[in-house]
Amino acid sequence: MTTSTNISQIKSLFQLQKNHAPRLNKSSADERISKMKAIKSYISDPSNEKRLVDAIHSDLRRPVVEVLVGEVVTVLQEIDFVSKNLKHWLKPKKVSTPLTLAGSSSYIYYESKGSSLVISPWNYPFQLAITPLIYSIAAGNTTILKPSEYSVATSDFLQEMLDHLFDDSEVKVVQGGVEESQALLGCPFDHMYFTGSTHVGKIVMKAAAEHLSSVTLELGGKSPCIVDETADIKSSVNSIAWGKFFNTGQTCIAPDYLLIHESKYNAFTDQLKSTIERRFNPSGKGIIHSEDLGRIISERHYVRAKSLLSDAIEKGATVIYGGDHADEERYVSPTLLTSVNDSMRVMNEEIFSPILPIIPYSNIGDIIKQTSRLPKPLALYIFSKHKNNIEEYLKNTTAGGTVINDTLIHYGNHNLPFGGVNHSGIGKSHGQYGLYAFMNERAVMHQHLGTTKMLHQPYDEKTLKTVRLMSKF
Ligand code: NAD
Repeated sequence: MTTSTNISQIKSLFQLQKNHAPRLNKSSADERISKMKAIKSYISDPSNEKRLVDAIHSDLRRPVVEVLVGEVVTVLQEIDFVSKNLKHWLKPKKVSTPLTLAGSSSYIYYESKGSSLVISPWNYPFQLAITPLIYSIAAGNTTILKPSEYSVATSDFLQEMLDHLFDDSEVKVVQGGVEESQALLGCPFDHMYFTGSTHVGKIVMKAAAEHLSSVTLELGGKSPCIVDETADIKSSVNSIAWGKFFNTGQTCIAPDYLLIHESKYNAFTDQLKSTIERRFNPSGKGIIHSEDLGRIISERHYVRAKSLLSDAIEKGATVIYGGDHADEERYVSPTLLTSVNDSMRVMNEEIFSPILPIIPYSNIGDIIKQTSRLPKPLALYIFSKHKNNIEEYLKNTTAGGTVINDTLIHYGNHNLPFGGVNHSGIGKSHGQYGLYAFMNERAVMHQHLGTTKMLHQPYDEKTLKTVRLMSKF
């Protein structure tokens, strides 16, 4: 479809899916599993996997290992996990009934919401489009998927794959940018699942309010990383360098800035510099030649990353490592910044590039002051060997998710809910949390004995006594 036909066809596509939704609602778990398995077979085919790896390389120059870890393996595992558990998760669950309502039984039925919209970002352009689609299919909904206009090669791959596997009435990709997104947001979907920036998340929520569509908002923010006086320097440097520079810092849960105990500052920064050299510059020819560091997605995002750095330097920050860039290939080197302060953009906006501000602290009060100054983050990392310290940091901070002594890995556990809090997101995904985001948990009570007739009108002394008795249970 061309862009202009996209806009003009959006309403009729929405209606086509809306009409089809009741049929999907009645589909069995086995039918839904076979659809998810079709996606799995498609991407497991070596030639398709290669096309996907090439597409993401063309969009982000992402190393193959990072494509496999961040896009392919994650999706295959999610399909397996949801397929394995779906029958159990869809089964109505009996819950207990209070004594005051004795004689009846209570259940939660899981029913499809109906029609859903998924809007996805460019940073994990395949995985963040397909994972919510899996939940939507598992839940028995129709889906329109709007991938990012920045990761064009991957969006083309998505469109080709889903056109091949699904009828338009069930799953359809609509490509485009803001105009297409706005047209889609104008349709009264039953559920809107958005992954992207906090700024656009607010636009989505406003649009959803017009239709009272339910929303899942998977947003971003500034995820702090705490390294305390008891932390093991070598292993914390290893994990932080991996989490920060994976996908060139363009990860929603990447450590955004570091709070390090002042006693560890020198040892940590020395070790981090040598780790970056060892990983990305083993030949000594320069990090720009490393195949293991990707590029910034677009000119707009590249200019923004450079301006974050120049703003910090103008306001007094010191570059203790890196600070290099190359316009012709949107290259930004791993960069370590110190002497940062709250007036700088790097300490207020999500950095989303391989720039790491490092802030020494002396006590937990400094950590609380810094983390509570900013909106609630998507992730918060703690590096410490001291159990009581860890509990104190957990008690005094908040985040969508936390990893102790590593980075990013909570994303890989489907048993944990994934998502943010307020500014970093609303609603959760992964495994059954993702599935139920696309379902209505319907409360069903079945009256067997009719005991509530004691409460019916006309009210008399006996009714009053019954009510007083009920309040005792
Ligand atoms: P973005 O908000 O700019 O765009 C996301 C999607 O929204 C795209 O498909 C885009 O076309 C659409 N969009 C953009 N402007 C719009 C508008 N005015 N109206 C309607 N739709 C609009 O985000 P991005 O730059 O693609 O992604 C980066 C952001 O996403 C970061 O903030 C990152 O933290 C966040 N993110 C969050 C998660 C998570 O799971 N919580 C995962 C990945 C990325």
